[in-house]
Amino acid sequence: MIRVLEQVTGGVIKRFLDSKGVPKNCPLCSQDEMSISIFDPEGEQAGTGKAPAVRVIHELPDGTHRGYGEFLRVCLNCGYIHYIRDTEVLAFMDEGGDNEL
Ligand SMILES: [Zn+2]
Repeated sequence: MIRVLEQVTGGVIKRFLDSKGVPKNCPLCSQDEMSISIFDPEGEQAGTGKAPAVRVIHELPDGTHRGYGEFLRVCLNCGYIHYIRDTEVLAFMDEGGDNEL
């Protein structure tokens, strides 16, 4: 299941990762910058940071789901996928860390 939270944008994920000191490059192949997965069906918001981030929710066989979802970024060179638990990102937003300067 994929859900989109309008307020969690690609830009928020980027600022979250920056604030935590996570390098932009791929940890496997060292490609310069991994791509944050965003919901942008019209392809109009690439690079703006304003498109909502894709959040993956894992549904369990009984119809419930895990207590957290995951944002992700992908290496466009080697395909490595880095999942980022939503709990920490939402806490970051609650603390006001997502405010643009
Ligand atoms: Zn890579």
